[in-house]
Amino acid sequence: MAIERTLSIIKPDATARNITGKIIDKLESAGLRVIAQKRARWSKADAEAFYAVHKDRPFFGDLVAFMTSGPIVLQVLEGEGAVAKNREVMGATNPADAADGTIRKEFAENIERNSVHGSDSAENARGEIAQCFSEEEIVG
Ligand code: UDP
Repeated sequence: MAIERTLSIIKPDATARNITGKIIDKLESAGLRVIAQKRARWSKADAEAFYAVHKDRPFFGDLVAFMTSGPIVLQVLEGEGAVAKNREVMGATNPADAADGTIRKEFAENIERNSVHGSDSAENARGEIAQCFSEEEIVG
């Protein structure tokens, strides 16, 4: 399988509970390597741009409010099949449906406050990484 890169975000519900280390441990234990990382606080425009694909969904306004409610940790993860591997470690969007041992099963509060974001395809990963990081910030 090819070495890939994917974008990961530790969301405000997780930074508020001071569990970023526990989440990073799960990612690293699955074989994913953190090759870029920064803490940020998104503006409304940042969150709206990042989640533009969801702009017509009923949860869009609440999602933007949540993602701007506190600090986030943005990461580029690298590894074999990193996009699918990260999605597997994250678990289902709704923690009620997430498999045992996944980040969302262990840490998510609900379907919105679900602790992590991960790109859902290699193509989207490329776009999301370019949106969030400069080339100089990525140290593979
Ligand atoms: N979300 C929500 N309500 C929903 C579906 C999604 O609040 O009914 C939020 C949730 O934070 C989710 C994000 O919107 O992680 C993006 O949704 P998506 O369907 O892309 O899920 P993901 O790829 O994050 O699992």
